[in-house]
Amino acid sequence: MNIWFLTGSQGLYGEDTLRQVAEQSQRIAEQLPMPVEWKPVLTDAAAIRRIMLEANADDSCAGVIAWMHTFSPAKMWIAGLDALRKPLLHLHTQANVELPWATIDMDFMNLNQAAHGDREFGHIQTRLGVPRKTVAGHVSDPAVGERVLSWLRAAKGLAEVRTLKLARFGDNMRDVAVTEGDKVEAQLRFGVSVNTYGVNDLVEAVDAASDADVTALVKEYAEQYTVAPELLGERNESLRYAARIELGLRSFLEAGGFKAFTTNFEDLGGLRQLPGLAVQRLMADGYGFGGEGDWKTSVLLRTLKAMTPGGTSFMEDYTYDLTPGNELILGAHMLEVCPSIASGTPSCEIHPLGIGGREDPVRLVFDAEPGPGIVIGLADMGDRFRLVANEIDVVTPPQPLPKLPVARAVWQPRPNLRTSTESWLTAGAPHHTVLSKAVGREELVDLAEMLGVELVVIDADTTTERFAKELRWNQAYYRLAQGF
Ligand code: MN
Repeated sequence: MNIWFLTGSQGLYGEDTLRQVAEQSQRIAEQLPMPVEWKPVLTDAAAIRRIMLEANADDSCAGVIAWMHTFSPAKMWIAGLDALRKPLLHLHTQANVELPWATIDMDFMNLNQAAHGDREFGHIQTRLGVPRKTVAGHVSDPAVGERVLSWLRAAKGLAEVRTLKLARFGDNMRDVAVTEGDKVEAQLRFGVSVNTYGVNDLVEAVDAASDADVTALVKEYAEQYTVAPELLGERNESLRYAARIELGLRSFLEAGGFKAFTTNFEDLGGLRQLPGLAVQRLMADGYGFGGEGDWKTSVLLRTLKAMTPGGTSFMEDYTYDLTPGNELILGAHMLEVCPSIASGTPSCEIHPLGIGGREDPVRLVFDAEPGPGIVIGLADMGDRFRLVANEIDVVTPPQPLPKLPVARAVWQPRPNLRTSTESWLTAGAPHHTVLSKAVGREELVDLAEMLGVELVVIDADTTTERFAKELRWNQAYYRLAQGF
């Protein structure tokens, strides 16, 4: 995946100056925190339009960084910016850190004009309504580099969701509203293609798994997890069947090029267990997942996993501790929490599941690693999508949970449980979310900008009153911005 580095200038300066522009621009590009593909300095409208069309057509180009070292009259950029369909970062920097006060002359002034060259460029981007991220500061400043990297991670997520294929095993859980959504709009807005497969197609793949592969996988489980003795003894067949589900799911997804999927406990066909362990392990390998047919959360999970490695999981707000002054949210799911957020070695166990009417499912049980994180949900508001995020602090559970047979995360939402939940409910945000310890707020903001999707963030500074107003303003804005 490549990022292109574009430098704007104009023919007026003459060859000598343009040569200096090219040299200095290459030095700026080399100081970025990731490798970029430096492109020759752009000095006219035809070349600008051509390079933007090339960026659009090149699948390996994930985004474009632009910098106006000198003055680049922005009418030259109209056709190119209007054609650009890749993420854009406007880097507002300059070649030097300090001004050479003692020696500065008009030659220096002539060459180092980003202070106004980039303003001309900012003007035309805003006039055209070009989505982009603007990052200001010297390129050698680590804070500048970090903001560029967050844009790069968002661009990786975007590239992933643009070509993502999602397989649904069964449809939506009956009568549930928030997990529904417009799959056609999602394909237009995000790029993802969402399709349903008969769960018995999956059962065929599960049944096709070889005994030798099952044995090898069970051995892997024993190496990676603390496996309950009964699963290695009298209930070994249940563990072997869980391994069989994993092998079948994996081969189905690999054969179809799917990187995300959903299941539905109401539609298990010939599956003997609700997939638990298999789903957890596939998430750990980067697959997106949503329970109860929730394809939107599955898409979000895969996208976030593509942005940055680390702890990111499917999650559901389950139940609260309302002790005054120490309110907590306990998040979990029936089975499917990703071990990438686990603290310590997960324990592989088997317990009854009151729902789904199948054999007892095998699952990994663990507590989530404490530390700052974010939960994010994607809702379909009827006329558009809305992303809602809440900054949180995952904590060690105040007491052990010896009777709870599922993986879980316990967290304090910012700024507090009351403001967080009142805001979340006012936003109409879902109960299924993605919890990430790896993806930061800035990456989410950058991703939302690239997708053209609303994002509201509940953080330490949120008040319910201002948040409700923001939602109202956004509602008006996004309706107007849609046009007809
Ligand atoms: Mn659920």
